[in-house]
Amino acid sequence: MTDPQPKVVPYMAAWSAEQRIVRTLLCGKGGIVYADEQPHDRDSRGALWIGTTLGQGRGRPEFARTHAQRQRRCMRALLCQVCGGLADRSEQGVLWLVEDDEGRAEEANWPEDLVTVHPPICVPCAHQSLRLCPHLAERGSVAVRVRESAVEGVYGQLYRSSRHSPVQVRQDTVFYDSPEIRWVLAAQLTRTLRGCTVVDLAAATAST
Ligand SMILES: [Zn+2]
Repeated sequence: MTDPQPKVVPYMAAWSAEQRIVRTLLCGKGGIVYADEQPHDRDSRGALWIGTTLGQGRGRPEFARTHAQRQRRCMRALLCQVCGGLADRSEQGVLWLVEDDEGRAEEANWPEDLVTVHPPICVPCAHQSLRLCPHLAERGSVAVRVRESAVEGVYGQLYRSSRHSPVQVRQDTVFYDSPEIRWVLAAQLTRTLRGCTVVDLAAATAST
């Protein structure tokens, strides 16, 4: 017997077979370390990453859970968060679907300088997402062309030092130029959006 599965499972979504790898965290010099840390546990800019097993397509898709390594891959390489192919790019920049969850879309420069954990998207997936996920439209998802987006930080669990093991503080975005980068267990990569132009998707399609 197979579970009924929706047609579109975003590339970035975790599956039930993909579990977090539990590791012992310790307070090191100036930050958290894994008790059995390996060089690949940390990115080139010093952030320590959670580990998750790989099993895409196995079990059930868990839409609310993002797979850390695939999210990171999408953000680094500007891949579409839904299909994992290249995100769309035109002379106005890379295509992103940005949620206006704070009702700020009317502000002149929104979403300039927005820090996001949601990777960009390709045109077919953007159309499909808006069609299949009414909540995106309800929350005021807007298509935006972004000329420059820099990887500037991570989102994850922030810790503080204690005499025994590190103590959880909060989930937060931490920028690479902050000393707190050594105290966060990264789960997602962030990009800061600059050079933004709000477009309608019909126009986005026409420009490609
Ligand atoms: Zn796509």
